[in-house]
Amino acid sequence: MRVYNFSAGPAMLPLEVLEQAAAEMTDWQGSGMSVMEVSHRGKQFIAAAEEAESLMRELLAVPDDYRVLFLQGGATGEFAAVPMNLAGEGDTVDYVNTGSWSKRAIGEAKRYATVNVVADEKSSNYTTTPSPESVRPKEGAAYLHYTPNETIGGVEFGYVPDTGDVPLVADMSSTVLSRPIEVSRFGLIYAGAQKNMGPAGLCLVVVRDDLIGRARPSTPSVWDYAAMAKAGSMLNTPPTFGIYLLGLILRWLKGRGGLVAMGEINRAKAERLYAAIDRSGFYSNPVNPDARSWMNVPFILADGRLDETFLAEAQAAGLTNLAGHRSVGGMRASIYNAMPIEGVDALIDFLKEFERRNG
Ligand code: PMP
Repeated sequence: MRVYNFSAGPAMLPLEVLEQAAAEMTDWQGSGMSVMEVSHRGKQFIAAAEEAESLMRELLAVPDDYRVLFLQGGATGEFAAVPMNLAGEGDTVDYVNTGSWSKRAIGEAKRYATVNVVADEKSSNYTTTPSPESVRPKEGAAYLHYTPNETIGGVEFGYVPDTGDVPLVADMSSTVLSRPIEVSRFGLIYAGAQKNMGPAGLCLVVVRDDLIGRARPSTPSVWDYAAMAKAGSMLNTPPTFGIYLLGLILRWLKGRGGLVAMGEINRAKAERLYAAIDRSGFYSNPVNPDARSWMNVPFILADGRLDETFLAEAQAAGLTNLAGHRSVGGMRASIYNAMPIEGVDALIDFLKEFERRNG
């Protein structure tokens, strides 16, 4: 039985995509092999990788002066690759701190550059985003980095910071492809795949041409954007299965009307779930309404002693992985692209029923 999987990542994938992958698992495109067994330099795989890149360009409306790279090492690898590629030794780099993932990015950047935290939402216990006026780069900053969606805190920016000539770098791991974005506002976007783009192991980087070719000499080649761009992301063996599955997901997305249509569905899903939480006196979400994430919805029960019962009963009802991140506890429903609105409705019904019995 398929369940509604509310995991923050690796996350639920569209059933149609999984079924297609299963159907062609042992004989991909008449090759007599699975896609995992064919050469990454063979015609068939190159065509699949090119299709994935071109669909990504089309769906995200990536301008021509940006490269799309398929890398490894996850978003955590990019926490280091970004300063290694965009900042020289001793350069200052600006970071916005909106919670757990910002902190991880800052910690890694400190190993390579002087980090200036331009805005820090500590005073609200990371339940807010800074005002647009406070997200301004410091003179001479090599770039400004922020986390548009904090997966653990469920905090999301409702705007794109204006950093003028200073390149804006965004960790879009948990928001990429969830709605349209204006790529030209960013110098660099990166995202791990395991939420909206397929299995873990693939990391997307979209980077403006003028930011490529500045890597410090000690940068590992697999994270040097120039080396990877030159090699078509195939300096070494790429995560072939992940690239193949990304292609299927992008086709699925396009078939559903692309990012405009997906954004409308995602907005509706989030609005319904927050409304249900806000209506009840039993569940609550701590995030400031204008900073609430469409993708990750944390909530707590009025009585934390009921947490285990809640999770067990949800599991029995086919609603899985609702436990909050191990660092914060409580609950969290991640509702990425592949979570249908019916899954959100099933969760809302369960929330009401659990409250009726325990509230
Ligand atoms: N940034 C954000 C916003 C994330 O949600 C995650 C993973 N949950 C990461 C970075 C780290 O990604 P990875 O595990 O792919 O390194």
